[in-house]
Amino acid sequence: MKALVFGGPGRRSWDTADDPSIIDPTDVIVQIDTTTICGTDLHILKGDVPAVTDGRILGHEAVGTIVETGAAVSSLKKGDRVLVPAITSCGRCAHCKVGMAAHCQGAGGIGWIFGHLINGLQAEYARVPFAETSVHLVPDDVSDEQVLFLSDILPTGYEIGVQKGGVKPGDTIAVVGAGPVGLAAMMTASIAGAARIIAVDLAPSRLRHARSFGATHTVAGGDAAREEILALTDGYGVDVAMEAVGVPATFDLCTQVVRPGGTVANIGVHGAPTTLHLEELWIKNITITTGLVSGSTVPTLLALAREGRIEAEKLGTHHFKLDQIEQAYDVFGAADKHDALKVVITA
Ligand SMILES: [Zn+2]
Ligand SMILES: [Zn+2]
Repeated sequence: MKALVFGGPGRRSWDTADDPSIIDPTDVIVQIDTTTICGTDLHILKGDVPAVTDGRILGHEAVGTIVETGAAVSSLKKGDRVLVPAITSCGRCAHCKVGMAAHCQGAGGIGWIFGHLINGLQAEYARVPFAETSVHLVPDDVSDEQVLFLSDILPTGYEIGVQKGGVKPGDTIAVVGAGPVGLAAMMTASIAGAARIIAVDLAPSRLRHARSFGATHTVAGGDAAREEILALTDGYGVDVAMEAVGVPATFDLCTQVVRPGGTVANIGVHGAPTTLHLEELWIKNITITTGLVSGSTVPTLLALAREGRIEAEKLGTHHFKLDQIEQAYDVFGAADKHDALKVVITA
C-alpha cells in the first residue's frame, strides 16, 4: 500500500509501505476513506516528538471502512463505516474505566498511539487496535466530512476547553487563539450555552473565521487585548478563558482576563515553560485546568453533527486526494498564507 511515512525531522514521503495485518484478536483493518493533518503532525516533522521514530506512518484522524476483523471482534463487521478517533481505548484499564482513555494503559500508557507509537492513518489501510472500544459507527445519513474532525479537534475543544472550563449557559468566555482547535472550542461553547464568546487572535483572517464558528466579539491579539477584554466585561473579566495557542504570552493573557472565581482552561500544546504568576493569582479564587482529550464526548458530538447542530465540516477549507497528501502538507504547513483551517484528504 501507499502511506505518508516519517523519515526523521524535516522528512516525509508518500511511499510504499507494508500492508497492515491483524496482530491482536481485538484489531480490525480499516481502509482509509477520508483523513486529515493535525498541528501535532507538524510538530512531529519538526522533531518535537522524539517517540516518533523513522519509518512511522503518520496521522491520527480518519473515517474508513472495515475490511477485516480480528477473532475477538463481534460487534463490528466487514463493510462497517467507522470514525477512527485520535485516542485508542482498551476499555479495561483503570483510566479507561473512568472515561479517561487519554491515559489508556492497555494501548501503551497514552491513548494517542496512531502516528506516534504505532503506524497511523494517513495511508490506504491501517490496523486499528482495541477496535470495539475505540471506533464509532458512522450513520449512513452523515458524510465523512461532517464527522472527520470529531476524531480529534472537536472533542479536544469540547472536553478540554468547554467541559474542563465548566462553561455554563449565559457565561462570557474568551478563546485565545482562533486556529482549528480554538474554533472547535468556540463552536462547542455555543452548544453549551455561552452567551458571549470573545475570540482573540493576531490574524484578522482567523478572527473573520471565528465569527462563523460562534464568536460574538473579536479582539486583536497583542498588547491591547487585555484592556479590550476587560472593557467588554465591565472590568470583571471572563467566566472562562481558554488558551488555544500554547505559548507563554497567551497563557498569561488568560490569567489576566479571567474574573475572580473563573476558570483558565489550557488547551494549547506547550513546548516551553511558562511562569505562573501565583503572587497575583493566589487571591483570585480561580481554577486552572489542562489535559489531553479522551474522546468520551464523541457520541454526543456525533448526535449533534447528525442533526446539523454543529457543522464541523466548515473546518475543512482545502481538499486533496490521498496521493496529493504531500501538497496537503505544504498547504497546511503554511496555513496563514493559504487561509487554510483544516485539510480534507480523500481516497
Ligand atoms: Zn490531531
Ligand atoms: Zn485503557
